[in-house]
Amino acid sequence: MMSKLDTYFSNLLNHLFTISNLGYNEKNEYWIELYNNAEQFLNNNDLKNLHNIMILIHPDFLYDNQGEFIGDHIGYNDRSFNLGINESDICQINKISEKSICQFNSYKNIRGKCQADHYWPYSLGGPSIFENRILLCKYHNVAKSNSILEDFWKTYPDWINDYIERMYNFKK
Ligand SMILES: [Zn+2]
Repeated sequence: MMSKLDTYFSNLLNHLFTISNLGYNEKNEYWIELYNNAEQFLNNNDLKNLHNIMILIHPDFLYDNQGEFIGDHIGYNDRSFNLGINESDICQINKISEKSICQFNSYKNIRGKCQADHYWPYSLGGPSIFENRILLCKYHNVAKSNSILEDFWKTYPDWINDYIERMYNFKK
């Protein structure tokens, strides 16, 4: 059986293939159709269909029908994402992987400050908003990527509906 991640990637590939030869207007219309199809999943916070929902925020869709980049208006690139991190903040690796505990949290002077990372990856459209932020120490930052992608599907992200709604308002 395919994992949620595999299903997401194979659906994503299909969509990216379909839009690869489309102009901005058609691409935008294609997204609106995906949005309309996903609306009931969004309304029900449907975890089973989260892989279809996450496709909507892929960076290739962050343009309006004129081809203008909308990411800056909806929080995709928020400079404050990296701000407000203190030495006393703990590494949140346990949020990704329940079994992991950061041993470095007890030795913050050795560990140094944690770094802001995207829970849903930036390269797949994960926005730079606080709800999508996870603080990781430099040791866990290098080790996280794959485990995030596998674990992501267990909880419905509380930010995703508002974020997609913001996209919709610029694309409709
Ligand atoms: Zn750590």
